[in-house]
Amino acid sequence: MDNADYLDVALRLTNATLSDVPALRAALHDEPWWSSRAGDEDLTALRPVAAGLRRVLDRAVAADHDGVLREVNALLAEHPLRPRLSAGHSAEPNWHIHMADTSESPATEVAAAAAWGLAHGIVHHGPGRFGRCGAADCDNFYLDTSTNRAKRFCSPRCANRVHVAAFRSRQREG
Ligand SMILES: [Zn+2]
Ligand SMILES: [Zn+2]
Repeated sequence: MDNADYLDVALRLTNATLSDVPALRAALHDEPWWSSRAGDEDLTALRPVAAGLRRVLDRAVAADHDGVLREVNALLAEHPLRPRLSAGHSAEPNWHIHMADTSESPATEVAAAAAWGLAHGIVHHGPGRFGRCGAADCDNFYLDTSTNRAKRFCSPRCANRVHVAAFRSRQREG
């Protein structure tokens, strides 16, 4: 995983419902090392982390840079990186770095990875590149990497939904 992957982890955790363990596992599905081991304790541990990530993005969307600093640094202090080099988990060597001691719960590493990923994402993209979905019934945040900064929705699904609703209301009025 690289820094972009850790930002992706942060955004998936931010936007996950975290209603139960399967929802958490779905949010972490790209990383079987985490998702296969995630349980109730991880769910309980990661809910406040997701809330902290949302506070960061809420401040970023509000262009409140002091708030971004405060919220990111609180997350980094509470979920510090403790990097560990690994040669892989099977006979074939597969060198990589874990963000925390692998003997700890998945939540410990996921929280550290997400806090680091979002901090690095703000450095790399700038806080102004993050947005909140424009669909009325969607609370998701997104990263806008488009050249013209035109992104308004978290997903094509939300964009289509809003456009179809606007089209229907225009038809009714017409
Ligand atoms: Zn590993
Ligand atoms: Zn959305």
